Amino acid sequence: MSLAEETYLGIDIGGTKTNIGLVDAKGTVLTQKKTATSIKSGPQWAEENIQSIIEDTKEVVATLSDNQQIRSIGIGVPGTVNWDLGKVVFAPNLHWRNIPIRDIFASVFGVPVFVGQDTQAAAWGEFLYGAGQGLQDIACITIGTGIGCGLVISGHLYRGHFGTAGEIGHTVVEKEGLPCNCGRNGCMEVYASGTAILNRFKVAVEAGQKTSILEHRQLDELTTFDIFAGAEAHDLLAQEIIGSAVEYLSMALTNLINLFGPEAVILSGGIGEQRALYVEPLIQRTYARIYSILVDKIKITPAKLGANAPLIGAAMLFRDAPHQGNKGKGDLSC
Ligand SMILES: [Zn+2]
Repeated sequence: MSLAEETYLGIDIGGTKTNIGLVDAKGTVLTQKKTATSIKSGPQWAEENIQSIIEDTKEVVATLSDNQQIRSIGIGVPGTVNWDLGKVVFAPNLHWRNIPIRDIFASVFGVPVFVGQDTQAAAWGEFLYGAGQGLQDIACITIGTGIGCGLVISGHLYRGHFGTAGEIGHTVVEKEGLPCNCGRNGCMEVYASGTAILNRFKVAVEAGQKTSILEHRQLDELTTFDIFAGAEAHDLLAQEIIGSAVEYLSMALTNLINLFGPEAVILSGGIGEQRALYVEPLIQRTYARIYSILVDKIKITPAKLGANAPLIGAAMLFRDAPHQGNKGKGDLSC
């Protein structure tokens, strides 16, 4: 009789979608299920929403064959996490504060559970099995509704003393700039994220700027992808706003590269799939800005694992716990 095949369960809880899957030791996703994250939005519904993720996770677990066994569960969350306590400190888009998610899942599934920030999980996935394979020092940027970053330094995730390292979306690029969800002004993600591109397009149209996109669509129905489609069809306003987003992110990437000096910067997330209009110009602009002697050395490259990066990385968080960075004890409970 052969030994049970070890399998790792990853849960990537996003602001709108949750991706749950079984991953083998080589990083291959064996089964997965995607669902809507929040049935109801608001802090009072946190418990109910977590219960629904537990039910979906049970369905994925039920697909295990007799010779497969779950070794651990890893959960990626869009917010600040206390890894030592397995607690979500603050996830603004989910309205979660101080949720002891590790203990909740461990009591239901009876296996070890590790909780990390989704962007850090994505970086770990790309480091192990994606564009960061074989490297030691990487920054993995997730560009989607917001913009986040996971840092791997000397083969270990770097979380910062309070677990907040990598908040590149909230680095300031405009003095007294646009307001951000974080409560501050001028943050990079309000100029460069998918949400920012859509919002800035709407503001420009409302201010009277012309666009061909609205010949077939209503302004309030537009999505970020309509703006990209418009830019592809040579709409000048869409091209200008995407070009401006690229400029802002390239400034933040330049600062990150000059500060940390990584081997590679990996570009991930939904907007990271927009190669011709966003990723390629971003790579060119960043090479044109970084400290000149780094230009021929550093690799700035698209991610390889696509939308599964945080799921795969999260699944391996417990297995790789000794590499999960400094044991910062800064307690951010709020
Ligand atoms: Zn901010």
